[in-house]
Amino acid sequence: MCGIVAYIGKKLAQPILIEGLKRLEYRGYDSAGVALLGGGSIRIKKTSGRISALEDVLDEPNAAETFGIGHTRWATHGQPNTVNAHPHLDCTGKIAVVHNGIIENYGTLKTWLQNEGAHFASQTDTEVIANLIGYFYAKADSPEEPMNSEPQTKFEWAVQRALQELSGTFGLAIVCSDFPDILIGAKKGSPLILGVGDNEFIMASDASAIIEHTAQAIYLADNEMVTVTPDGFHTKTIENITISKELRQIEFSLEQIELGTFPHHMLKEIFEQPKALATCMGGRIDPQNNRIKLGGIDSYLRDLTRTKRLILTACGTAFHAGLVGEFLFEHLARIPAETEYASEFRYRNPIIEDGTLVIAISQSGETLDTLSAVEEAKERGATVLGIVNVVGSSIARATDAGVYLHAGPEIGVASTKAFTTQVAVLTMLAIELGRRRHIRSDQAGKYIEELSQIPDKISQILSQSDHIKQIASENMDQENWLFLGRGFNYPVALEGALKLKEISYIHAEGLPAAEMKHGPIALIVDGMPAVFIATAGPQYDKIMGNIAEVRARGGKTIVVATEGDENIKQHADHLITVPFTPEILQPMLTVVPLQLLAYHAAVLRGHDVDKPRNLAKSVTVE
Ligand code: GLU
Repeated sequence: MCGIVAYIGKKLAQPILIEGLKRLEYRGYDSAGVALLGGGSIRIKKTSGRISALEDVLDEPNAAETFGIGHTRWATHGQPNTVNAHPHLDCTGKIAVVHNGIIENYGTLKTWLQNEGAHFASQTDTEVIANLIGYFYAKADSPEEPMNSEPQTKFEWAVQRALQELSGTFGLAIVCSDFPDILIGAKKGSPLILGVGDNEFIMASDASAIIEHTAQAIYLADNEMVTVTPDGFHTKTIENITISKELRQIEFSLEQIELGTFPHHMLKEIFEQPKALATCMGGRIDPQNNRIKLGGIDSYLRDLTRTKRLILTACGTAFHAGLVGEFLFEHLARIPAETEYASEFRYRNPIIEDGTLVIAISQSGETLDTLSAVEEAKERGATVLGIVNVVGSSIARATDAGVYLHAGPEIGVASTKAFTTQVAVLTMLAIELGRRRHIRSDQAGKYIEELSQIPDKISQILSQSDHIKQIASENMDQENWLFLGRGFNYPVALEGALKLKEISYIHAEGLPAAEMKHGPIALIVDGMPAVFIATAGPQYDKIMGNIAEVRARGGKTIVVATEGDENIKQHADHLITVPFTPEILQPMLTVVPLQLLAYHAAVLRGHDVDKPRNLAKSVTVE
């Protein structure tokens, strides 16, 4: 959600900042801006709308400007207009700030600063940070506010003092015109990474804006700050305690985040699923010995095996993966499991007893609601495992142990390969726990063998993309859709509806198919599309009944069924087939046609699927 880029080095900063902001576009934003330093002043350009609109208002870069900060804003406080776009200056014009996050006590601070003589141009919470730093900066020489003893600039001191007053979350890049070769970054709750190059540094809210310049980086933790000059950097806590940070390798390459021959990241990532799943499972499944080895949680396996209750917590698509996990753990391992929206879990006084284990799921590992749920669960004494994609992310660090997805970077805002790999990780874990608790080893072995075939089976489904596009084109004008599934495919129905809503802006509801008759059936009118997942399984006959109910009322059925099912043909207005796999593994297959359906419907309706309106890739605000 929103992006920060900052550069300090020997090259022209402006093009580097713009390129970096473009790499962060996928995170979601509504306005953008840059501040450039050179020749003792700060030059700010900002605008509402896209980076391309910012480029239109930019001047030719000035050769002295080898230092600057940039921002894409996802508005929380104040409309997404040019005045509210970042960077924000303090009222002396010396301090410029870009900010990701929310300052919860901004109202009190603003009133106080106004009484102290500060004035404000925007409605943002961020401008309070700039003015608060400016306030302490002006006080730095006064006897009643002495700088602490460590040798440091008054700029650094003023930043520390201001940050100590803030509650809420921030990723920050801050500059001061009196110190034209010092960049300060700070983090609490929103990610911030410093890429370390040869006499140049690029700071950003995620590694995709850094990788073009360097693969070496330090990842700030909460309440840490970094002071950077063209020659080096040092790290401290915001309480001014010096800390040393390990230089880490960024795990992915530039090619992985580029489109290649695909028109959109979302389509690229849908098509990457066979490879992503093969990588996710590679080295972890052992069909010969009926075993699954998940290195990251090895030392917790005994705890897990004895678990009395599992709580899976997540948001959005990851929540749907969690629901699949709930069914898997109960079915295979007989562990009572429940899935909770992370945003609700945190605030509803959750019960954590001895033997309760929490699993948090997040692609980015930065989802603030999920991170807060992790903290809440830990405080209540639970062991917490993480299932995340981004190595070294906040949730990966906050959890006791975890399993990485190894899906490669996911840039498309609508999550696809993260969902299937999240389900794959949950499936592997459930099979391993099942083998230890409930199912026979040879049964586990059969599932593992089937699991190893999933990547190839997804490839077969992908070859129907044109057929699915045709179905999308015949139904894309309908503004209301239903997605219906039962058992393991009920979470897939939820996920199919979410995908359609997110990128095509069509209203869709996902339901357990039998629930339809308890209310939503009233919605069905002539021609309304109802997408059924009616694959081979114990509830097949039941779902046939639900299909009949929709058709009897004029609804149009788009049916996902198992290859070779001749009977289904007469009940489907449109048919999409998936290869056979046991019911417990079906979600990894049945979701794929729904991803393609949503993708094609959105493109046909003329939407930019990689930049859906109002959405951000990783939601780092509450
Ligand atoms: N809360 C700040 C604003 O509304 C920052 C939002 C963001 O993270 O982009 O301007």
